[in-house]
Amino acid sequence: MPTWKNWAGNQIAHPLSIEKPRSDEELLATVVSARERGETVKVVGSGHSFTSIALTQGRLVSLENMSGIVGVDTDAQRVTVKAGTTLADLNVLLDQHGLALANLGDITYQTVAGAVSTGTHGTGRHLTGLAGQITGMRIINGLGQITDTDETQNTEILRLGRVGLGALGAITQVTLQAVPAFRLRAVETPMRVDQLLEEIDTHVDTNDHFEFFWVPHTGWALTKRNNRTEDDVSPQPVVRHWIDKVLIENYGFGAVCAVGRLRPKWIPRLAKALPSSGGREYVDTSYKVFASTRLVKFYEMEYSIPRSHVVDALNEVRSMVDSNGHLLNFPVEVRFTKADDMALSTSYGRDSAYIAVHIYKGMDYQPYFRDVEAIMRTHEGRPHWGKLHFRTAPDLAPAYPLFDEFLQLRKRLDPNRVFANEYTDRVLGPE
Ligand SMILES: Cc1cc2nc3c(=O)[nH]c(=O)nc-3n(C[C@H](O)[C@H](O)[C@H](O)COP(=O)(O)OP(=O)(O)OC[C@H]3O[C@@H](n4cnc5c(N)ncnc54)[C@H](O)[C@@H]3O)c2cc1C
Repeated sequence: MPTWKNWAGNQIAHPLSIEKPRSDEELLATVVSARERGETVKVVGSGHSFTSIALTQGRLVSLENMSGIVGVDTDAQRVTVKAGTTLADLNVLLDQHGLALANLGDITYQTVAGAVSTGTHGTGRHLTGLAGQITGMRIINGLGQITDTDETQNTEILRLGRVGLGALGAITQVTLQAVPAFRLRAVETPMRVDQLLEEIDTHVDTNDHFEFFWVPHTGWALTKRNNRTEDDVSPQPVVRHWIDKVLIENYGFGAVCAVGRLRPKWIPRLAKALPSSGGREYVDTSYKVFASTRLVKFYEMEYSIPRSHVVDALNEVRSMVDSNGHLLNFPVEVRFTKADDMALSTSYGRDSAYIAVHIYKGMDYQPYFRDVEAIMRTHEGRPHWGKLHFRTAPDLAPAYPLFDEFLQLRKRLDPNRVFANEYTDRVLGPE
């Protein structure tokens, strides 16, 4: 049996087959034959989810041969891409047309379909996650039908299914609303975390993209402010950029993590050596500022909570880390997005803050993540679908006002559960 594993290496599948269709027709043939034989199909992206969302014991389908631009509407600034296109490739293709995505997360290895299906997001008080930029999709549903959805046809799928967890069908192409290409001025500075939390609304509201990383066992946070600018590109010198973004953020950080795994008691002292370079500032093309190289592997959980809860929730995490004796060598990342209207989006109906916690690969993440999850539950938390969590359908349903409507849509599009796996059984329910 073939083997597939995710980026972090914590999810391994032994599917019946791994298929790499080159066209909608080939993918359709896979879905139709799986349905006839009572098998399941799992379309995977780049395997950058930490949860078992992309695992299957059925037929695993990679869209690595279905990549690239289908069409660009320069007047409407909309681009249609094949679903297997990575965000990294999409950024370059958009740039060639003078366009860009309005916002991105901190890596671009994901496929477009994989990223939107889990509600992938970046930071920015007036911006939603990537799925909020979708204006149309083509999807092969569990009945073996190819369906287009946009503002004029099959609107219910667009309304409810943009964050679909792969449970509604195989997306073969996506149309996204882009914006004119832009540059960002990046300013990164360390701050005392207490002062930062006192002024949090000012920081979030006066920057296009604000985020910070609290360094556990210290009173420090590293802040990142990215703002649109007309100034010319002034990237860091190549060597400095490589030292900061690749060497220190990855290898230096990796060494700290590796030592911490062997000698957990040293972690609080090591934490003080974590990279807070003392500050840097540069201007570059938007997507080059948003995304970084990630070489150090880790496990992650991320919770969305109402933005107004962020100070209390983070302070509770800080106290819990001390009182429960967790020894942590990864910063806690905090980001912000605007409310949206997508049924299973973690930002549905509320301006949100995101609190993300990490553990170095190979270390036991459960005690820390469970303690953080317990805090997030008390703050109306919704877990990122692609990042580790312990929630199940019965306690997720009340967190999503349109949960039942999503399940009804799923019943219509995939009545035989061709696209189900253990993860969708767990978080959506088997029926
Ligand atoms: C280092 C790292 C950094 C990250 N940074 C961020 C971040 O900044 N912000 C954030 O929100 N998340 C982040 N993530 C999480 C990541 O964006 C999501 O887990 C995303 O879903 C991964 O995309 P993928 O292409 O790897 O999809 P996969 O993990 O392979 O699949 C995810 C889901 O999408 C479905 N899917 C994929 N393709 C299709 C298709 N064609 N049709 C239907 N369903 C499909 C799969 O079935 C599965 O259910 C990060 C993850 C890592 C490992």
